[in-house]
Amino acid sequence: MKDKDSINIKDLSPQEIQDFVRDNNLQPFRARQISKWLYKKGVTNFDEMSDLSKEFRDFLEFSFSLEPSLQLVEEQVSEDGTKKYLFKLSDGNQIESVLIPDKKRNTLCISSQVGCALGCTFCMTGTLGKLRNLRPSEIIDQYILVNKYNENSITNVVFMGMGEPLDNLDNLVKVINILTDPHYLALSPKRITVSTSGLVPQIKKLGEQVSVNLAVSLNAPTDELRDEIMPINKRYPIKALLEASVKFPVPNRKYLMFEYVLLKDKNDSDSDAHTLAKLLRGIKCKINIIPFNEAYPLPYKSPTWDRVLKFQEILMSYRINVRIRKSRGSDILGACGQLAATYPSIKVTETQTQI
Ligand code: SAH
Ligand code: SF4
Repeated sequence: MKDKDSINIKDLSPQEIQDFVRDNNLQPFRARQISKWLYKKGVTNFDEMSDLSKEFRDFLEFSFSLEPSLQLVEEQVSEDGTKKYLFKLSDGNQIESVLIPDKKRNTLCISSQVGCALGCTFCMTGTLGKLRNLRPSEIIDQYILVNKYNENSITNVVFMGMGEPLDNLDNLVKVINILTDPHYLALSPKRITVSTSGLVPQIKKLGEQVSVNLAVSLNAPTDELRDEIMPINKRYPIKALLEASVKFPVPNRKYLMFEYVLLKDKNDSDSDAHTLAKLLRGIKCKINIIPFNEAYPLPYKSPTWDRVLKFQEILMSYRINVRIRKSRGSDILGACGQLAATYPSIKVTETQTQI
């Protein structure tokens, strides 16, 4: 008899699968067989694991579930080729993942939570509040399913979808281990980027466990302004954030990245650009400018294109490496900050987590 509440085998990290195999006195190569079937062959049923004995398959079936943790509700394709996937979770909550094709890359933008607790004033996800963390299986299934729908063409993963990944740190680390382990999904850590609004202690903890690219959503050059648009700044102000960020172990030949959402008449003046450049003086980094993506009912406007270019030009005059992130998928509300997984049928509210 199977326990109805048994955990999904894709909630286990590579280390936990090895521990399970060892604790049950199985030979170590069994762990590799399991990972091959789960992640290289993508089976959805233990019976398909044909080189395992019937007895072992039954034992796995007894111990774990293997149902897909996501159900596809809708796929939308933008004029620019960006695809947005709306998934339903087993409790009825909904999340979104976005696939962004580029010349050489196919980047999947993954969600880590249903909603987000941090309430940045320019972000749709923030308007939902935090409903709950995603389990590892719910995060990794976004990759597995979207990769399957797109002929295994995903090359890069960014944790820039719904939620604050560092507010779900343990599950994030498990997922990164599943993505990068050579016997699992074998993705290079250089192709993975975690974006954070700046949870300082968790930046340090993440860096102690994995080496991936880090993108820090700075978005303002002073504490006064950052306090106003990103409430988390009151807890972890800019100085502490920069100190933790520069210590983060990004992969070889990769740079720490700062994101800066440009909000018209809020943080986009010449003087803001000069202050920002001076703030980052001496830090080896790249800046990604993101012109604000409008979405009702957010209280800001996008800057004009001239303003965006001027802001970039000022930063470049300080020899800072700065790129403008093109808005992708905005016609289907798939661009940064526009994800709110519309049409949530049931909202299952967990106690709103305090950070
Ligand atoms: N919680 C994480 C990751 C998800 S948000 C974080 O905040 O970094 C991913 C990026 O989208 C962040 O850099 C955020 O500043 C940006 N963003 C949020 N809302 C936006 C909007 N409406 N327009 C443009 N970028 C936005
Ligand atoms: Fe949360 Fe990031 Fe949106 Fe801020 S920008 S509310 S941290 S998802």
